[in-house]
Amino acid sequence: MNNPAPSLRAISCADDYDPNSMPVEKAREVIARFLTPVVATERVHVRAALGRVLAEDVISPLNVPAHDNSAMDGYAVRHADLKPEGEVTLDLTGSAFAGAPFKGAVGAGQCVRIMTGGVVPQGADTIVMQEHAKSDGERVTIGPGHRKGQNLRRAGEDLTAGQVALKRGLALRPAEIGLIASLGIGEIAVYRRLRVAFFSTGDELVSIGTQPEEGQIFDSNRYTLHGMLTRLGCEVSDLGVVRDDPRLLEKAFGDAAAAADVVITSGGVSVGEADFVKDLLNKLGEVVFWKIAMKPGRPLAYGKIGSAHFFGLPGNPVSVMVTFYEFVRDALLKLSGRDPVPPLPTFKVPCTSALKKAPGRTEFQRGVLERDSHGTWSVRVTGEQGSGILRSMSEANCFIILPTEQGNVSPGALVEVQVMESIV
Ligand code: AMP
Ligand code: MG
Repeated sequence: MNNPAPSLRAISCADDYDPNSMPVEKAREVIARFLTPVVATERVHVRAALGRVLAEDVISPLNVPAHDNSAMDGYAVRHADLKPEGEVTLDLTGSAFAGAPFKGAVGAGQCVRIMTGGVVPQGADTIVMQEHAKSDGERVTIGPGHRKGQNLRRAGEDLTAGQVALKRGLALRPAEIGLIASLGIGEIAVYRRLRVAFFSTGDELVSIGTQPEEGQIFDSNRYTLHGMLTRLGCEVSDLGVVRDDPRLLEKAFGDAAAAADVVITSGGVSVGEADFVKDLLNKLGEVVFWKIAMKPGRPLAYGKIGSAHFFGLPGNPVSVMVTFYEFVRDALLKLSGRDPVPPLPTFKVPCTSALKKAPGRTEFQRGVLERDSHGTWSVRVTGEQGSGILRSMSEANCFIILPTEQGNVSPGALVEVQVMESIV
């Protein structure tokens, strides 16, 4: 089971960071120290394994390819029969098609018609493409210039029997599913799905289907969280909206922590609200409250409630998505058994917009990465960047990441972007 984790508060003190201005990197680093991946596994059919995480190495039971075979349609010949200069004419003695091998051997002065994937017959060591040969159906004439062993795929060239084909910790994509099937393996061991329970906090929230009264708004965070968690392959448990009431919240935290590996909430961690939730979480577990030096997404709580990990995300809908992408995503993948956790790719492109940015915190502005008619990529900002404007996330296809020390950005400057589509 879980190793005893070091105390969050002890680490906090030893690290001497400022919880009121926690750098993004530092927060990631502290969280990473507390993550112990799931160990339970289950066996699933290969077709049901899409997106699951391999719990053991897949060892190839066979050579791939299993036999020397032809990479081309043409003729299987003995290289020694060919002339370095000038033509030679060989007797055509049979054929080797994919799935229907030639039974005999190719003798001196002979050749065999072979199709792509056909097993190379005994005696032959070279494939001559059909475009480089003339056949009258009985005899085949071949010119000079052929290399011994050309157009042959060797047995075991891709994988040899006993070799690790796929490593534990890999999430299975269609390519891996196909590869496993190509080895004749029908069932594999994967880690059990990570169980994540989440709820929204706030007296102002109503769920869809309820008529909001004056001052009430529809809860959207549970829906974006549901989507992001599902894409990450988690088993999700939606615990609804919980009022800002200590008794109800205590029960919700308790129920969630008992049922899940990870508890995620939104709202209730900003100044004022935090004090109240803080007392509660101090009672139930070990939780630290940080003000991350980032925008959006400043308040963030992280810790343990019993054996469950806890992420207290801010309430603003954009902040929820940004903090999820930047902190929760990596943590959930690590807990799910992914090893290594693939970093979110970032790269630099010119920014066509002027960006406002104050030094002192990392900003995650919402951007649209687009290609002009010459095929050149650039990024523009989505417009208003308020942390409540969920439409900015919907319009965006990337984050423009502006580092801590960065100030305003002039049009044409290179900025770092992180593509969203590949994130979850
Ligand atoms: P809080 O962090 O609870 O102070 O919330 C910050 C802002 O986010 C407030 O304007 C809330 O109304 C809004 N908010 C909080 N939770 C949600 C939610 N689940 N869906 C939509 N907006 C929310
Ligand atoms: Mg609130």
